[in-house]
Amino acid sequence: MLRGERTRRSARRARQLEEVPALAALAFGFDPAPPANDLGRFGATEGCDPDFGPGDRTRALLKVQDGCDLRCSYCVIPSVRGNSRSEAPEIVLARIGRLVEAGFREIVFTGVNTGDYGRDLDPPLSLSKLLKRAIEIEGLGRLRLNSLEPKTVTAELVELLAGCSGRIAPHLQIPLQSGCDAVLARMRRPYRTADYARVVDTLRRDVPGIALGADVIVGFPGETDDEFEATRRFIESSPLNYLHVFSYSPRPGTSAASFPGHVDATIVKGRSARLRRLGEDLSLRFRHSFVGKVRTALTLRQIRSDGRLRALTDNFIDLGCDLEGRDPTRLMNRLLDVGITDVAGSSTVGTLVGAA
Ligand code: SF4
Repeated sequence: MLRGERTRRSARRARQLEEVPALAALAFGFDPAPPANDLGRFGATEGCDPDFGPGDRTRALLKVQDGCDLRCSYCVIPSVRGNSRSEAPEIVLARIGRLVEAGFREIVFTGVNTGDYGRDLDPPLSLSKLLKRAIEIEGLGRLRLNSLEPKTVTAELVELLAGCSGRIAPHLQIPLQSGCDAVLARMRRPYRTADYARVVDTLRRDVPGIALGADVIVGFPGETDDEFEATRRFIESSPLNYLHVFSYSPRPGTSAASFPGHVDATIVKGRSARLRRLGEDLSLRFRHSFVGKVRTALTLRQIRSDGRLRALTDNFIDLGCDLEGRDPTRLMNRLLDVGITDVAGSSTVGTLVGAA
């Protein structure tokens, strides 16, 4: 083959590869954008997810559910997206198969109220039952769940997470919103702090090494200093290990928008900063507890600014792996054992164990 033809072919191949995420998005129905940070939910501007989007063709987001049957007083989603609807299991399973064939190692189930999956189907199904079928798909690396409402974390799901040998990542984000029962009642959340504590305590006890995160809203109408303190104390004594902190802002058309007791912006800012610091402490403590231990990590197609290969452990630790002279391109998009060696601030470092 002439050199010019070879160059043209490799340029064409490179262009095709670059198009994979967008094509996969169209074909498989997942969102090619980075994971949603819930900006539409209550005007949040803080605590967004880090960008682990599928742009590097290692992780895919797969929408399995939309809409919500709950009616939290601050939320516009039910009026915009309607009631809860689930994708048929055959479609979900077929999409997973195609994503696996396309080379994605990790598939993240997403939805508005993902834990509600299957209740509307005929015959009804549950998220756990869908997951049990999904993890049997040949070639699948691992699945991950996004946010699950506390009441949808069933005993069956906990048992599945505990016994699936890592095929579902031990990681759940469970919206708390407030650690004060009076605020939860005003928010019209369908649980109280004791229910929430039972869920996260059970997960921490039964699923070894699980990452547990929570969304929290600060400055909900009428939130007093004591109510905020109750939230802070609740989180401090919980097994949570990271937080997404959102400042409340009224959404037109919601009942909370007309609630009295607007909280001053300066107070909200101060409370948000305190919770964010607490979230950083919880994260640091969690990551420190894994120094000297080995976790399975998905290597991304990204080299950090410190020259290390970026990877994401099963329990959601974002770390840089020392390459020790190895060619990074041969190590990308693989599920590898990583020994966690050091934690400093927000940075975690590890070494690849036994990777050629
Ligand atoms: S659970 Fe509440 S906050 Fe979440 S989408 Fe449903 S109504 Fe909105």
